[in-house]
Amino acid sequence: MTTIAIAGAGIIGLSTALTLADRGHDVTVYDAHPRSGASHHAGGMLAPVAEVVYQQDPLFPLMRAAAAWYPDLIALIGRYSALPTGYRTEGTLVVGADRADKAHLDELQDYQLAHGMEATRITTRAARALEPALSPAIAGAVRIDGDHQVQPRLITRALDDACAAAGVTFLAEDLHDVREAHADQVVIAAGLGAEQIGGWDNHLKLRPVYGDVVQLRVPEHQFPLVDRVIRGFVEDRAVYLIPRADRTLTIGATSREDGRAVPLAQGVHQLLRDAAEIVPGIEDCDFVEASCGARPGTPDDLPYLGRVSERVVVSTGYFRHGILLAALAARCGAEVVEKRRPSVDLKDTNPLRHRR
Ligand SMILES: Cc1cc2nc3c(=O)[nH]c(=O)nc-3n(C[C@H](O)[C@H](O)[C@H](O)COP(=O)(O)OP(=O)(O)OC[C@H]3O[C@@H](n4cnc5c(N)ncnc54)[C@H](O)[C@@H]3O)c2cc1C
Repeated sequence: MTTIAIAGAGIIGLSTALTLADRGHDVTVYDAHPRSGASHHAGGMLAPVAEVVYQQDPLFPLMRAAAAWYPDLIALIGRYSALPTGYRTEGTLVVGADRADKAHLDELQDYQLAHGMEATRITTRAARALEPALSPAIAGAVRIDGDHQVQPRLITRALDDACAAAGVTFLAEDLHDVREAHADQVVIAAGLGAEQIGGWDNHLKLRPVYGDVVQLRVPEHQFPLVDRVIRGFVEDRAVYLIPRADRTLTIGATSREDGRAVPLAQGVHQLLRDAAEIVPGIEDCDFVEASCGARPGTPDDLPYLGRVSERVVVSTGYFRHGILLAALAARCGAEVVEKRRPSVDLKDTNPLRHRR
């Protein structure tokens, strides 16, 4: 048994803590504001195909592995907690609002197929048969059955509960220096806060990429408005709608690096207008909340996951995909802590790669 300190109670720190506690280690998690970071605001799409980013090839195997391991993470949580995670496997529909957006969708699908991913072009009629709330005006549709979802606020709460049941100790304080932790191993999983943690040769380079998100509630007589995650391109802007069992509908997300950590009126307006373009029925929904989260981005948009010294492991920088990549971070993070060979090659995620 090893004593392990983990800085950060976001989805990455919690899923890593649970995995290590389940393997019999003595785990302590530090966080003055648990579950308050990016994980609190995220959409929760588990989308290794729809979220594919051009020229980000090193990310694809990581995302694919994470998607394949997600059911294991959900099962692990379920062994320790009865709380829901919002895990749903109905799949995703991606639609183009007009002809130019359809062309964008077609190009993306070609790229996805060329990289061995599964994405099926369907007629707009077939799309509307699956999801009758889609606008009759949409110009194109692609069906991606392998892209799923969780509800981030539910899964982090369930992880928290599961960690407690598995014997993890929680300290309501931040870790400022790895030397302060009385532990054999320290895992830095503090999202954007990782840059500030001292006591080692810290050259992590993280930047906040803000995203506005809107929560609506579907009125009872309209529920369920949609069953699948609906992603769309509207005048070349990306928008998504994620339906939840509790009747809420998450609409996201903008992407900006302007340092403004509050939801912006312009962003909220744009999200609602674009979402209504593809699912007009959202205009009848109750408005619940607008929020803004900061994605922890790195210079090359790849995570930092790996060992940086005999005692310290870094697991952060998961940028747009941290909810999905939590399954990878937990499994491979635990393997790195235990000095075992990681289940996927982590050569592209070396946390020391941006050291000058
Ligand atoms: C608007 C938006 C939408 C998104 N949608 C998706 C999506 O659909 N799918 C997807 O896969 N990903 C999505 N993401 C990305 C995802 O949310 C992040 O990559 C992920 O949440 C990162 O998790 P984390 O645990 O590393 O960081 P966080 O959730 O930010 O958690 C970090 C934690 O560390 C704590 N902390 C900070 N400093 C210290 C310290 N010194 N000591 C101890 N604790 C500390 C903080 O209080 C916080 O609780 C989205 C993000 C945003 C903002």
